[in-house]
Amino acid sequence: MAAAKMLDDIDEKFCQCCVCFEQYKKPRQLQCLHRYCTECLEKMIDTNPHDFKCPLCQEKIDVPNNGVEGFKSDFYMNEILDYIKVKKSLKEDQSLTCGDCSKQTKSSAYCFKCIGFLCEDCHTYHLSRKSLQEHRPHILSLEDIEAKNITLEKLSILKEAPRCQTHPQNQSQLCCKSCANRPICLTCTYGEHRNHEMYDVTELAKSEREKLKRQLKALDEWKDRVYETLSQIKKTKDEIFTNAANYLDESTEKYNETKSSLESSQRNIQRKIKVEEQTVTRKLEENVRHTDMEMARDIEQIRKKYEKIKSNHHTDATKKSNALKTRSKQAQADANAKRKQLALELQKVRTEIESEKREKLLNWKKFSSKINSTVRKFENVTNTAENVLSSQDDWTAAHNIEVICQATEPLIQEMKRDYSSVAKLAIYVGKQQEKGHLCSTEATVVHIDGIKAAGLYINSVACTWNGRIVISGGTSDKKNYISLMDKTGIIVSSKLGTHFNSILFSPGCYCALVNRLKIAVACQEDGIALFGISDGSYLNKHLGDFIRGWSRSKLRVACIATDSVSNSIILGIYNNRNLYVLDESLNNKHTIRLQAIKRGQPI
Ligand SMILES: [Zn+2]
Ligand SMILES: [Zn+2]
Ligand SMILES: [Zn+2]
Ligand SMILES: [Zn+2]
Ligand SMILES: [Zn+2]
Ligand SMILES: [Zn+2]
Repeated sequence: MAAAKMLDDIDEKFCQCCVCFEQYKKPRQLQCLHRYCTECLEKMIDTNPHDFKCPLCQEKIDVPNNGVEGFKSDFYMNEILDYIKVKKSLKEDQSLTCGDCSKQTKSSAYCFKCIGFLCEDCHTYHLSRKSLQEHRPHILSLEDIEAKNITLEKLSILKEAPRCQTHPQNQSQLCCKSCANRPICLTCTYGEHRNHEMYDVTELAKSEREKLKRQLKALDEWKDRVYETLSQIKKTKDEIFTNAANYLDESTEKYNETKSSLESSQRNIQRKIKVEEQTVTRKLEENVRHTDMEMARDIEQIRKKYEKIKSNHHTDATKKSNALKTRSKQAQADANAKRKQLALELQKVRTEIESEKREKLLNWKKFSSKINSTVRKFENVTNTAENVLSSQDDWTAAHNIEVICQATEPLIQEMKRDYSSVAKLAIYVGKQQEKGHLCSTEATVVHIDGIKAAGLYINSVACTWNGRIVISGGTSDKKNYISLMDKTGIIVSSKLGTHFNSILFSPGCYCALVNRLKIAVACQEDGIALFGISDGSYLNKHLGDFIRGWSRSKLRVACIATDSVSNSIILGIYNNRNLYVLDESLNNKHTIRLQAIKRGQPI
């Protein structure tokens, strides 16, 4: 608890209504713990009779059934205002008329029971007369005001109990718990509050203070977490920016790397083409020289024949040279297209980062405004609670703590809110999927996307003894195929099957190399075949010929492997424990039956 507050230390602004910008007049406290003048509240209710937004915190405030009277009088603020009033009168000399004898002499005290200043004579009289004994605890010496050492605690002892609202001639003696802890007089206990739950103010104040302290303790448990989140959210904003910049840097670097590797491979191609071109020219010169020599030996006899040969060499060289030029142009065009595509991809990444950043900042704003509003509420509740507790006035405690406790419950729920995703806010995921990379080979550049564009999908791949590649799978128009291509991806030979469901091929055919000449191809439905690498020949058999009880609906080929030593082919089948071993002519040499494996038994 803070040290006792000197009333003279209280800031003037603290006592100012933020609707009329004047000192509070009959202040009342709302559910959000903000306070306004009764008159200002009445104006707000006039325009919004059911509910309105608190001008300070924008919280929705429901108007009580009995209107402005339903909002609690702010006893705490009233005490401070009373003190300010006395102090102000003291400053303005003319108000210092003695309230007792109306003499215009220097006053020396203020009586909170008479609500007026006392001259020195009346002050002494007040202190000595037995009939005025009741006034004694309520006399404030003006010396104390001048010394500026009045605390709220002292003031609450000086002040009288509040007046009963129903019987303003009476002082309140009890608090009615059934009527929101309203102070009432003894007369009330026979009237409208008959049979209500009534408490002695000291007793009620004590239990209300205990209740508030418990609530504050509950709030305190969540305090660190909320402030941590607040600092986390501030940090997150910076991270959103730095991570975006890093992400863009990485993408740019990757782009530059790919671009430079493309350019160096392009330079290689051009250099090789140039060398080949020089070779062609040199060869042409040699040929011409050689022909000239021969021509010289037998000019007259066969001149015409050699002339013709010479011209053939020229034509041939021109053709080759033209072909090389076309290749050079093509390679240049490929490289340009790829460079353009790369730049487009980088642009796309950049746009995505930007939009992700915008989205993150939006979410950040939401989080930030939530946590800031929670912190503002927390500070408002704890400050108000500390003020009320420090006042020591039983009437304030009994009457006003209830509202503070009501504000605490939802606040605790708010403080418990899950903020774990704040930390993840600054992480960039990126929507751009990794694309197939460019690969450069000796002769040209192969782009895997290009094969897809030709309408093929690859299901199985194998390699021949001389480095050629075998692929098998399906085409986009639902035909099976097996293709042999060179290292650069150019198809050398191909066999296209009929539509799916045929015996020859079916979706998901598997291939494996048998020897230098043959590739075994198996399809899931019913076929097993040998594909000739050099001649494109094709020999096929039905699996049903040697697998007993073969049924297309129940059994399917699962995998295929070859043994290059014995040139045999091994087939694995779904829903079947056998391995079928075939020879080079697709005859079933023998079958290996695997032992049954029981569930849970180690293999
Ligand atoms: Zn006001
Ligand atoms: Zn408010
Ligand atoms: Zn007097
Ligand atoms: Zn008096
Ligand atoms: Zn009363
Ligand atoms: Zn009552």
